[in-house]
Amino acid sequence: MLDTAFFLSWLTLAAEAVDREAGRLTELDSAIGDADHGSNLRRGFAAVRAALDAEPPATPGAVLVLAGRQLISSVGGASGPLYGTLLRRTGKALGDAPEVSPGEFAEALRAGVAAVAELGGATAGDKTMLDALEPAAAALAGTTDSFAAARTAAEEGARATVPLQARKGRASYLGERSIGHRDPGAASSALLLAALAQAAED
Ligand code: ADP
Ligand code: MG
Ligand code: MG
Repeated sequence: MLDTAFFLSWLTLAAEAVDREAGRLTELDSAIGDADHGSNLRRGFAAVRAALDAEPPATPGAVLVLAGRQLISSVGGASGPLYGTLLRRTGKALGDAPEVSPGEFAEALRAGVAAVAELGGATAGDKTMLDALEPAAAALAGTTDSFAAARTAAEEGARATVPLQARKGRASYLGERSIGHRDPGAASSALLLAALAQAAED
């Protein structure tokens, strides 16, 4: 079973990864965007950490809802509302149970990913974070060593954005010039899934 401490650990590891990789994320965003993805997420996850430290929530669902709310209110870019919606919707789907099974979490994450797709009007193949999130959520639901499989699926999904032409977000303004670069949001999604796998290993 996955308890509140597991979700706190996931978000702490995610914040550390974002901190460590912020330069790389911003570099990716400088190629096909406005060079702020790393700093956007760094600010967002710092706010998440501060909120979780100030008032640690009592359930897995509450952890994710609070984190999502912080991302929405502290990140100005597109990724704030999108990741905020991901965590908030996933958290809402978990309800107020003190512990959740990996299967319940996988189902909740699928609902969260669906909410991101709805909010941004994107689907897999549009060269966005969904190219990492969708295969990761599917892997989490469909395999036994699911956290490791989700990490691999997200990383492969992010890598597969390189040859794609962006159809959503700022990168889509570049048209064909968006081809040949990894999508920054797909790269950060891979970091979040790697942090999840790490939390599961600890
Ligand atoms: P901004 O583009 O506003 O500067 P960020 O740089 O923080 O915001 O985030 C950019 C990332 O957000 C993109 O790389 C992409 O993965 C994701 N993104 C942008 N628009 C959408 C959308 N409509 N649906 C899903 N993801 C999106
Ligand atoms: Mg940007
Ligand atoms: Mg921006």
